[in-house]
Amino acid sequence: MTIGGEAVTTSGSFEVADPATGVPFATAPECTPALLDSAMRSASDAYRSWRQDSAVRQELLLASADAVLAAVDTLAPVLTREQGKPLADARMEVRSVAVWLRHFAGLGVADEILQDDEKAFIRVRRRPLGVVAAITPWNFPLSLAAWKIAPALRAGNTMVLKPSPYTPLATLLLGQVLADVLPAGVLNVVSGSDPLGASMTGHPVPRKISFTGSVTTGKHVAAAAAPDLKRLTLELGGNDPAILLDDVDVSSIAEPLFWSAFRNNGQVCSAVKRVYVPEHRYDEVVEALAAVAGSVRVGPGSDPSSRLGPLNNAPQRDRVAALVSDAVRRGAEAVAGGAAVDGPGFFYRPTILRGVSDGMAVVDEEQFGPVLPVLPYRSVDEAVSRANGTHFGLSGSVWGTDADRAAAVADELDCGTAWVNTHLALRPDQPFSGAKWSGIGVENGHWGLHSFTEVAVLHRSRG
Ligand code: NAD
Repeated sequence: MTIGGEAVTTSGSFEVADPATGVPFATAPECTPALLDSAMRSASDAYRSWRQDSAVRQELLLASADAVLAAVDTLAPVLTREQGKPLADARMEVRSVAVWLRHFAGLGVADEILQDDEKAFIRVRRRPLGVVAAITPWNFPLSLAAWKIAPALRAGNTMVLKPSPYTPLATLLLGQVLADVLPAGVLNVVSGSDPLGASMTGHPVPRKISFTGSVTTGKHVAAAAAPDLKRLTLELGGNDPAILLDDVDVSSIAEPLFWSAFRNNGQVCSAVKRVYVPEHRYDEVVEALAAVAGSVRVGPGSDPSSRLGPLNNAPQRDRVAALVSDAVRRGAEAVAGGAAVDGPGFFYRPTILRGVSDGMAVVDEEQFGPVLPVLPYRSVDEAVSRANGTHFGLSGSVWGTDADRAAAVADELDCGTAWVNTHLALRPDQPFSGAKWSGIGVENGHWGLHSFTEVAVLHRSRG
């Protein structure tokens, strides 16, 4: 772990499994309450000077981006080993950390002057909050950490960061890489099992909790933040619909639509998780998606020919398998995949389901894995109402040849981001947020930066 700029370990540890084999290959430190206190104290001490000088923060975030790029070859294989994703994807994820650090280094939070005349001087300043407790999931450990580190530190906050116990290693390494650049205590990285997350959210020091993870845990985090009125950003689960309109060109969208659902093996909060298709185009779409699914090579992330790796962990693989079995038992058909891959590891074949309906768990819940239900619809109004008819509201997309018409339908989706003829197009300057149970608050862009600040007004009377 990195605490106060030092590499720290503990006597307690937990195992980290390689999802490609299912076998533990490393251990990570289990942070003790005393060490968590020490991390919080370091962050709090570092805050006093870190908040002072915006130019220094800008320079050090740029230097951090360089350090991350210099460490791609160290970080990416560790990420592949613990997360399962192909090495090329892991390298891309590491590079995205540098992109985020650079982007936020270039953003500032300037004062706004509302009035400056003989009567009054009124200045609005966005001040940092203090120590941020940041908690991340196992699907994109590094990039989702960067979504928090870059804006929080840019705004002048300091941080204690905890990755998921399934994927602690790359984040712990990132902490070491950045400890060579950042002043001691600005970024502390600790690891531990789930109760450590609860200890962080209940800790008296942090003024803000920035959490990415499941809806269930997000609700616990919100409850833990309440007694101390800690500021809160929650990026939670999604059940993104894709609506195909009747003029859609299936041959050109089949591949991008497939990858919008199956990138990172479907373990993406804002992946397409259900597809609505006009009844008379249904067979054509199902066949096209099944053809892509059947052509994808699934294998260990360390094998350069693998397009998809294993799922990250056994419970997630079992959950996906159970959702597919349940749907098939209730009349659905797996036209591609539908089973785990024989042999060791948490592999599951990319699965396209036909004959599914709303009310099946695989449609109503977030599957977070390589299975995509395809559903027929009769009218666009009906498709929109079914797309919106869940507690989720992270993102969605509409696909059609008449892009203006598709955009008008996309505007009807009740979610944070609605895409047209694409999905999962994310950028550091584009705000990302969830409606309904998919989240509270915003990440990315200047909206994300502002969410690591609070407004302070200075009003001087000159009357
Ligand atoms: P999870 O909620 O189980 O765990 C997320 C993190 O919370 C982990 O670090 C975990 O150790 C920690 N945690 C567990 N219990 C806690 C508690 N009581 N208090 C504080 N922290 C606690 O989620 P997961 O299974 O790791 O990740 C998958 C979920 O994350 C999916 O639902 C996915 O949609 C969601 N997700 C959302 C986004 C987004 O930006 N909206 C991005 C990626 C993933």
